[in-house]
Amino acid sequence: MTEHNANHKVTMNATQTGIFKSAQEAIMFACNFSSQQYAMSPMAKLLQGPSRGSGRGLVGLDGAGQAGMVFAELQRIDYWQLAVLITGKLARSERCDCRRSCCRGWKLNPIFEEAVNQLADYVALTLTPVPPVKEFRVAVIMKYFGEKTDPLEVAKHLEIKKAAAERHITAIRKCIRDLEKNGLTAFSERLDDIGMLMRAG
Ligand SMILES: [Zn+2]
Repeated sequence: MTEHNANHKVTMNATQTGIFKSAQEAIMFACNFSSQQYAMSPMAKLLQGPSRGSGRGLVGLDGAGQAGMVFAELQRIDYWQLAVLITGKLARSERCDCRRSCCRGWKLNPIFEEAVNQLADYVALTLTPVPPVKEFRVAVIMKYFGEKTDPLEVAKHLEIKKAAAERHITAIRKCIRDLEKNGLTAFSERLDDIGMLMRAG
């Protein structure tokens, strides 16, 4: 919140000085913007207050246009970098109204699940030695993105030895982290090129 207030002055000149503080903020904004269109009008959401953090300076501008520009720039970076950046911003779960007795009232967001599945394939194609069994790779990546799952437990069920599992977990996490880091660098450069990033100082 204080952060928001501190930046209030900058908002006035948003069109001259860029809109987003960082690449992360731009992605967050675009993802929030596209998902909220299903729930309620984008404008109503943008006006909900400072806690969302990414609506700053965008109320008076064309939010849909800004979100579209962010997505267009995202599509210019490497696909896997794009995938990892988006995955980190997706809602991991959503409400479920199936009413089955086993239902906990929520389910994994199918888009998040699909993204993690793709990244599980990516790490298998990238790493040597190849981390075994997709189910295990998925668990590692799910956990990386904050989902409550225990990759070591999954490895145990799959009869992957603990020491090997730990090595693979380290390698997979590093692979995803590097992808994320390089993606942010590439995306920041793109945003900066088109003047959407605020200049520090
Ligand atoms: Zn359900």
